[in-house]
Amino acid sequence: MAEKPKARIGLEVHVQLTSLRTKLFCSCSSDYRGAPPNTHVCPVCLGLPGSLPVVNRRAVEHAIQVCLALEGRVAERLRFDRKHYFYPDLPKNYQITQYLEPICTGGSVEIHGGRRVRIRRINLEEDPGRIVYPGGSPLNSPYVLVDYNRSGVALLEIVTEPDMETPEEAVEFLEKLRSILEHLGVCDCGLEGAMRVDANVSVEGGERVEIKNIGGIHDVKRALAYEITRQHDLLVKGRQVRRETRHWDPLRRVTLPARVKETEEDYRYMPEPNLPPAPIPRGLVEKLRASLPELPDARARRLAEQYGLPERVARVLVSRKVLADFFEDAARLYRGDHRRMANYLVNDLLNWLKDDDLRGLYTRVKPEHLAKLMSLLDKGVISIRQAKEMAEHIAKKGVDPEKLVRELGYTRITDPEQLRPVVEEVLRENPKAVRDALENPKAINYLVGMVMRKTRGRADPAVARRLVEEALARLRGQG
Ligand SMILES: [Zn+2]
Repeated sequence: MAEKPKARIGLEVHVQLTSLRTKLFCSCSSDYRGAPPNTHVCPVCLGLPGSLPVVNRRAVEHAIQVCLALEGRVAERLRFDRKHYFYPDLPKNYQITQYLEPICTGGSVEIHGGRRVRIRRINLEEDPGRIVYPGGSPLNSPYVLVDYNRSGVALLEIVTEPDMETPEEAVEFLEKLRSILEHLGVCDCGLEGAMRVDANVSVEGGERVEIKNIGGIHDVKRALAYEITRQHDLLVKGRQVRRETRHWDPLRRVTLPARVKETEEDYRYMPEPNLPPAPIPRGLVEKLRASLPELPDARARRLAEQYGLPERVARVLVSRKVLADFFEDAARLYRGDHRRMANYLVNDLLNWLKDDDLRGLYTRVKPEHLAKLMSLLDKGVISIRQAKEMAEHIAKKGVDPEKLVRELGYTRITDPEQLRPVVEEVLRENPKAVRDALENPKAINYLVGMVMRKTRGRADPAVARRLVEEALARLRGQG
């Protein structure tokens, strides 16, 4: 098989500051999702002549927090530029963004094995409006609609250096970034359109291709994998990879050539005259630095130490803030084996919670549920196997485990009278295993395992073992 082609991947991540109540330059509500079109608008975000932007102070603070969390340098002053382009989603025909002086430069995000993805810059800018295709796609729509509710929502454009080599590394970077943003409380990245990605990718010997506007982290992986293969195949056939912009089609799972992209000169950047540069007070930066919350890396280390968790499990927990919060809330309610609790959450419950982006945590499944389930295990009321079977019910319906145990008829069989017939049956059906066990005490485990299987894990293993041993002793006596 051919060696996997080596790629260079850089990302531009657009992150909405969803925690802000208002937009970047006006007081319209930024909570526009689900609202009727063009109801969260005013002269500023509609770009009407004579309207003046006023900077949302909280948005600047959030941008600085993100910069500090990524260990970047905060700019000395806040300065905005106009970026011109003509598209219906942009009513002013320019976007207010940052060009010459981004609010943040440098910084990095650590991925596996201490590898770092460097951050080139972070711009604070306004989101454009949203084009709506009534037929679902441009080709199927005789006309388009524009919804300006999103116009002017505060956006961070986070640009990395091309430090990633595989689609998996890009995913890892994005998941880590998402978790950092969640811990800062600035972005609920699971909201539709709250995190959008442009990816630059080139393979050795080819030009750089930009893939625009990829919607979710998993689509980033698919788009990059597709594009790397496409570019590699072209080069293998002796053809060229052209420098171009492509779109990701999530339905057909292919990238397609897009309109010819403007060059930087086409954007005709100029200073935004309505927002003169303003110094960013160092006192404010230091205050924000001092108030940074615990971030994912530090939290993973603490969880591993405080609860005795394997590093891998701690990392999975902090990959989403809500998951780590949930674990810690449940751990406070439970004085037992926290390692087992974390394993159950990460290996069993999580499988069933992924479908709806963990929205079931706290809404359906409560920390008490997890704590109770662990207690039921400790008391021997249920077996590990039964606990695993209960995961789907708890995750999807949020049923109280104690109630679920009754509903499913899951109780442990501890009564020897109930188990004895099962033991007799197992001995009858496994004469060879019985002979082995008579000679080698270790072979008893197999017979006990058969009793567990016949009772679908409900037999109390200690009682089952005692009964098997008693039966074998009787056989020895007869022999
Ligand atoms: Zn507005």
